[in-house]
Amino acid sequence: MADVIRIHCRTCGQPLPEGIRTPTFPFCSPRCKMVDLGRWFSGDYSISEPLPREEDDLEFDPESGSH
Ligand SMILES: [Zn+2]
Repeated sequence: MADVIRIHCRTCGQPLPEGIRTPTFPFCSPRCKMVDLGRWFSGDYSISEPLPREEDDLEFDPESGSH
């Protein structure tokens, strides 16, 4: 057998048609593409979570050097 790599829809897991790069690749349908996009925006992938305020924890105030 040829080593065909089966691509599965990243949203629903359905195998995509072999050798066909659909406009919605790597998703089986526009709907699944939108679902994946929605995950991004809803923060499921948690790439750009708001960072904790590290600077506030330093408690370093160079202007009031009375310490
Ligand atoms: Zn799908």
